[in-house]
Amino acid sequence: MAYSQMGSQPAKLSTVKIANDLYMIHNDIVPGNTTVLVTDEGVLLVDDKFAVDHDNLVAEVKKITPKPIKYVISTHHHADHTGGNPAMQKMDVKVIASEQARQNMLDSKQPGQPDIAVEHHATVTLGGKVAEIYYFGRAHTNGDVVVLFPADRVLAAGDIFTFGDATPQLTDYSGGGSAKEWTTTLDGAMKLDFDNVVPGHGNLAKKADMKAFRDVTLKLRNTVHDLQAQKKSRTEISDVLKKDYKWGDLQFLVSLDGILAETR
Ligand SMILES: [Zn+2]
Repeated sequence: MAYSQMGSQPAKLSTVKIANDLYMIHNDIVPGNTTVLVTDEGVLLVDDKFAVDHDNLVAEVKKITPKPIKYVISTHHHADHTGGNPAMQKMDVKVIASEQARQNMLDSKQPGQPDIAVEHHATVTLGGKVAEIYYFGRAHTNGDVVVLFPADRVLAAGDIFTFGDATPQLTDYSGGGSAKEWTTTLDGAMKLDFDNVVPGHGNLAKKADMKAFRDVTLKLRNTVHDLQAQKKSRTEISDVLKKDYKWGDLQFLVSLDGILAETR
């Protein structure tokens, strides 16, 4: 996979404060964002970047709090979100993911497989604070979960929502993703009560930004469907995806055949 070629060099990390007890550890485009919930009894993370980022990620958390990391919730199986899992597990951290993400990791013998798998909904309580995990269906993969921090009204969305021009919609069909079901999955997540969103990649965003992205997921598949109905060639469709939807090499590699088949 193209993903495995990335993450050979550590990314430059920076921390953004979202609320008194909630932070985003951010970087340029790849790897994925990390969300940090700080409690008196320890720290909960959502996603832990590539393996090569582990030491810097732990150092960044230490700047926020001396408390130990207790849980990592993996939003999906991709290595730019789960690469730190094995090193975290050596630190006695418990990794939580969806049942589908766990299966994807088992199938590909990916390291850092979850200790705990969730089917639809789970609540993690740590130091009196709550993180709620929800699975709403297929989107970027077949195993994407979102994590709600109800007290701070913040959602960690994983890659079902990426923010900014450089991070167009990417459907990993080999990982069970679906451009067609993506919109409904986002509609499920949009029903949750939150104001700010940590996207899978990109800067901290508002709920309205996620709604705009949701509308793009609908427009994208309708566009591909219409172009196919008009008997446009693969090259003509690719040109539209590149120009209007900012598709890059990775999108063409992992998403094009799948979306053509799904919207035919
Ligand atoms: Zn991903």
